Amino acid sequence: MKHKKIWSLFLAFAMIFGLLGLSPVFAEEDTSLKTADILHTNDSHGRGEENQDKKELGYAKLKTYKSTFDNAILVDAGDTLHGTTFATISKGQSIVDLMNETGTDIFVPGNHDFNYGSDRLVELTKAGNFKTLGANVFKGNQALFAGHYVKEINGLKIGFFGLATPETKTKSNPLNTQGVEFLDYIAVAKQEVKALKDEGVNAIVCVAHLGLDKSSSQRSDLLAKSVEGIDVIIDGHSHTELKEGKLVGNTLIAQTGSHFNNVGDVKLSFKNGMLLDKKASLASYDSLKTLSPDSKILDAIKKVNEENKPILDKVVGKSKVDLEGTREKVRTGETNLGNLLTDAMLDVSGADVAMTNGGGIRSSIPAGDVTMGQIITSFPFTNYPVKLEVTGDTILKALEYGVDKAPEVVGKFPHVAGMTFKYDSKKDPGSRVYDVKIKGQDLDKAKTYSLVTNDFMAIGGDGYEMFKGSKEVAAYELLSEVLAKYIAKHSPVDPKVEGRVLDQVNDQEKPKENVKFTDIEGHWAKDKILYAVEKGLFKGTSESTFEPNTKVTRAMFVTAIGRFDEQLGSFKEVKENKFTDVKNDSWYTKYVNWAQENGVAKGFVDGTFKPDKEISRQEMAVMISRYTFNLKKQGLVYSEPAKFKDHKDIGEWAQADIYAAVAGKLIQGTPDGNFLPKDGATRAELVTILYNLNENFKWDAKKPSESDKKVDEKKDANKADDKKDQKDQKKAEEKSQEKKAA
Ligand SMILES: [Zn+2]
Repeated sequence: MKHKKIWSLFLAFAMIFGLLGLSPVFAEEDTSLKTADILHTNDSHGRGEENQDKKELGYAKLKTYKSTFDNAILVDAGDTLHGTTFATISKGQSIVDLMNETGTDIFVPGNHDFNYGSDRLVELTKAGNFKTLGANVFKGNQALFAGHYVKEINGLKIGFFGLATPETKTKSNPLNTQGVEFLDYIAVAKQEVKALKDEGVNAIVCVAHLGLDKSSSQRSDLLAKSVEGIDVIIDGHSHTELKEGKLVGNTLIAQTGSHFNNVGDVKLSFKNGMLLDKKASLASYDSLKTLSPDSKILDAIKKVNEENKPILDKVVGKSKVDLEGTREKVRTGETNLGNLLTDAMLDVSGADVAMTNGGGIRSSIPAGDVTMGQIITSFPFTNYPVKLEVTGDTILKALEYGVDKAPEVVGKFPHVAGMTFKYDSKKDPGSRVYDVKIKGQDLDKAKTYSLVTNDFMAIGGDGYEMFKGSKEVAAYELLSEVLAKYIAKHSPVDPKVEGRVLDQVNDQEKPKENVKFTDIEGHWAKDKILYAVEKGLFKGTSESTFEPNTKVTRAMFVTAIGRFDEQLGSFKEVKENKFTDVKNDSWYTKYVNWAQENGVAKGFVDGTFKPDKEISRQEMAVMISRYTFNLKKQGLVYSEPAKFKDHKDIGEWAQADIYAAVAGKLIQGTPDGNFLPKDGATRAELVTILYNLNENFKWDAKKPSESDKKVDEKKDANKADDKKDQKDQKKAEEKSQEKKAA
């Protein structure tokens, strides 16, 4: 709109003055309206060639597309040089050649560009005709790359600076960044903006491999919020598809998704050298596929493939046996190829356990010589192992999920190493897995293990939602490469099916903890105690004692309800700890956080939870009531209850919940008609509430497959996240205003 106005104004003047013969003055005004296009890609992960099925454009058509612009700068925001055999056989050189031929102007390395080691990355960028930027990347006192660069185009000076993600330390094999440091990106960005301003540029563009994932602490949206003066951020890393960019303050963030599915264009418009307007858009594969490919690049690609052929034909080692990768086999049970692969994953990562999905194994390899080409045919996906820190509970959930459809043929079927487990496919989904052994020991639900899986599952792929958000400690080269090296190292390999995963009738029923408490004989709550202990909701104070009459703390009670919810399969771990007196790593922390998040327990006005404080009967009744009726929405036939004799002692804040809990037969008063709200609750009373909770209501185990969402939900999830943040904030405020709380 703005342009139109200025233009028509100009025309009007030109007409008037033109008649007077004064037009030359205005001719100069005309040329002051200028544009520049920043074309950009990110996270192509080694995709040099076009792939029609996967809608990947490739460099041959990218070059043609660039040539349709008069004043375009081509920028790549990283994760570019690694990810396919096309790229990896030459350790990234094949992609650098294509970038050179395409006319890439600026490149900022992503975490995976370090996959060949930082020395190799520097070597590759030196071979590039483009400028590699990374203002925050240092080795000792030495910057590995230039910080900024001014590109002149159409008489304009566009200032670029680059930022790489510090997550490279873990999202590439840590060995690759030994000695490499990633400095504080905000401080670095402020310096770079100042330096570029001092050079008198017309616009400032940050090329960043930072992304928008909420799990990342250093992100492009935070950068935009914290640093003044950045006009545009060309972003990568989170694979976010921003159709029209995302405006944060005055900064426009642009990102194209991944894998060459789109090419981004940020159009900058200037008047008299002043940036007037900036617009981000994406050209999709479908809109570009009819372009004719550049023949020089096609030739270069052909040459690489020809050169790679003998390498793919190269024998990496031998196998004594046929390696079983048939679809029906790998998706329904243990196979020797699944075992070989997970052994290799364990070997490269040093993790406690390995787990990968049968759907990632695509074909068998016959006994005899094994070539690289065969391995790639079996593992064509460019997935790579990722090491996570997870609890035993998460591993168990993953195994339950992995076999919940068995014996159906499903891609999520788990192959494992470092552990063995049994499941009973006759049992209900969600309660099939038993006898899980990790390095020969029983799985400990509370213990933290290191688990190596593939990058796809690590972010919830194939429905493995329980891994999402886990702490990632390392990532490695492609699965195919890991396997090839393992075969070479152990040639000839002879993997067997050895009973790591067994579908077996579970006739042990529940492997009962042999409960032999000496202090519950004749106790009124004996049944309830046995129920809670056998179900794993509550433990004795020792192997032989339960201490039924000992008092319970607030943390103990919340933990017991949390475990009950876990067993229903609906428990969601909440990371955020809102209380000042709850440590991040206590045995009850995750349950307290969960209870707070779900309104089961609210804590005190001063921001504390007082976990070690004795719980009162009224607090206990309120919490169980909120859990049962508010959170789980259990129905209740409610008639006005008889008031307890000591009704006046019950806090006003607790009355409604207490009478609901009484009506629901979760808790009762004393035989003489009192409730004793302020008395402490005993361990016997606690297990009785759990017992009643289980008995008096109908509980459907929630099936984990309900949350079978697409992995790509990440895309554009940021708006929703922002909203949720605001909502959480509001909730917290409301809660802190409550006078009295349980
Ligand atoms: Zn990345």
